Amino acid sequence: MKEFTEMSGVKLARLIAEHELDEVQVGTASAARSRAMDADLNCFISVYPQPIKGEGDSALRGVPVALKDNISVRGKPLTCASKILSGYTAPYDATVTVRLKQAGLQIIGSTNMDEFAFGSSTENSCYGPTANPWDTGRVPGGSSGGSAAAVAARLVPCALGSDTGGSIRQPAALCGVVGMKPTYGRVSRYGLVAFGSSLDQIGPFTTNFEDCAHLLNVLCGADPRDSTCASVAVPDFTAVLNSGVKGLTIGIPREYYADGLDSQVRAALEEVQEVFAAQGARCVPVSLPHTRYAVAAYYIIASSEASSNLQRFDGIRYGRRVPRDSLGEVYGYSRGSGFGAESKRRIFLGTYCLSSGYYDAYYIRALKVRTLIRRDFEQAFTQADVLLTPTTPAPAFLRGEKTGDPLQMYLSDVFTSSANLAGVPAVSFPCGYTREGLPVGAQLIGRAFDEETLIRAGNAYQQHTAFHARIPEKYGPESV
Ligand code: GLN
Repeated sequence: MKEFTEMSGVKLARLIAEHELDEVQVGTASAARSRAMDADLNCFISVYPQPIKGEGDSALRGVPVALKDNISVRGKPLTCASKILSGYTAPYDATVTVRLKQAGLQIIGSTNMDEFAFGSSTENSCYGPTANPWDTGRVPGGSSGGSAAAVAARLVPCALGSDTGGSIRQPAALCGVVGMKPTYGRVSRYGLVAFGSSLDQIGPFTTNFEDCAHLLNVLCGADPRDSTCASVAVPDFTAVLNSGVKGLTIGIPREYYADGLDSQVRAALEEVQEVFAAQGARCVPVSLPHTRYAVAAYYIIASSEASSNLQRFDGIRYGRRVPRDSLGEVYGYSRGSGFGAESKRRIFLGTYCLSSGYYDAYYIRALKVRTLIRRDFEQAFTQADVLLTPTTPAPAFLRGEKTGDPLQMYLSDVFTSSANLAGVPAVSFPCGYTREGLPVGAQLIGRAFDEETLIRAGNAYQQHTAFHARIPEKYGPESV
C-alpha cells in the first residue's frame, strides 16, 4: 500500500516503472477518488469509465492527468461547459492529447470551467460552479478552476488548462498549486476550442516545478497543424531544475504593488523576495507603466476575437440545435438558448468593438495599447532576467461575491492579462497562506521562450520552502 495522493507525478511514474505500483491500479484509484470527491468539489465534467492509456514512454509514464473540457479527446464529449455543445463529441485528438498519450500518461477525465473559458471563478458553467478545496464556500478561480481544484485536492498529480488572460495562473494561485502559461506559440493550440486566438495558450497544473518541467517537455514543440505554433527549439526543461538563482536579477514592477493589493498578499510577496535574495538573487525595482490599461485592452481584444470565434456555434455544425422553420430562426434560437449570460455579454461586447464606426476607436486602439504593453516588458527585460509579482490582488473570494458585477470579476485579471497581451511566459506558484488558511500565489514572468528561467527560479524557491507541499485537510492521504 502506498499513499499515492501525496506523491509527485515523477515519483508516481518512478514507482510504476520499478513495478512498486501498478499502473492500472493507479489510474483506477485516481478516477475513483475523483468521482468520490466530486460531490463536494464539482471539478469534473466527466470522469471516464476507463482511463485512456497512452502507449508511449516518458518520465511521466502512467501518471493520471485531467484535461480542461475545451481540449479535444477523440471520441469523448467536448462541452466547454456550454449547453450549446451538449451532445457534441470530439472527432479528433488535440495535439496536446496526442502528446500526452505518446508520453504514456493516462487521461482520466475532463474538468469543469467557465463557459468557453469566459470568467475568473468557474461559476459560469452550465454544469454548476466548482468549489475551492481549501474552503468550499469559495471559488477556485477561473476559468480553469476544475483543473486547479483537482490538482489541489490531489485527485490527479497534474492537469491541463488554457490561459487567455490568466485562466491557468489565477486558479493556480487561488488553489495553491503551480500553473504555467507558456510563451504564446510554445504549445500547439490544435484541438483547443478557440477563445482569443492571439492570446490563448495551453499549459500545465502541477503541485511542484519538477513535474511542471517534465510536463512541458511533453507538451511543447512545433506543430504543422497550428501555424501559430513556433518552430523554436525546445530545451530539456528539467536540465535547469537545480541551477539556482545565484546571479539572477529579479525585477519588481512597482505598478503591481500599488494600492488595492491585499495586505497579506503583499506580505507574502515580500517574503518571496527575501527567499530569493538569501539565495543570491538581486531584486531591482522596474516599471511597466502601461499596466493600468491592460484589463481594458485585454477585454476589447479578447471579446472581439471571441465574438468572431463563437460564430461557428450556429446550431447546425456542432452540438445542440433548436429546430425551427427558417435558417435564421435555427441560428437565433439555438444561440439564444445555448449560450449562457457571460458568453452573450462577450459576443455583444466584441461585435460592438468590431462594428464599423467603432472599430478604430476600440479595437485598433486596444491593439496600439497592446504594443505599448509589449514594449514595457522589452524595456523591463533589459534590466531584469525575470519579474516577480502577485498573481492576484486578493485570495479566493466567496462564491456569488462577484457574479452580479462583471467589472469586479474582470478586475481579477489585473496582474495576469499583460503577459497574454505581450505573449510572454508566466507561472503562478504558492507562496504562503492567509490567516484564514487560503493560499496566496506569486507570479514569475519571463522573456519570450524563456520558460527555463521560470523553472529555475521556481524550483529554487520550492527547495527552500514547503508551501507547495501543504494539502487541504479534507483531501489528505489515500492509498493504493
Ligand atoms: N478572466 C479572463 C476572462 O474572463 C481570462 C479568461 C481566460 O484566461 N480564459 O476573459
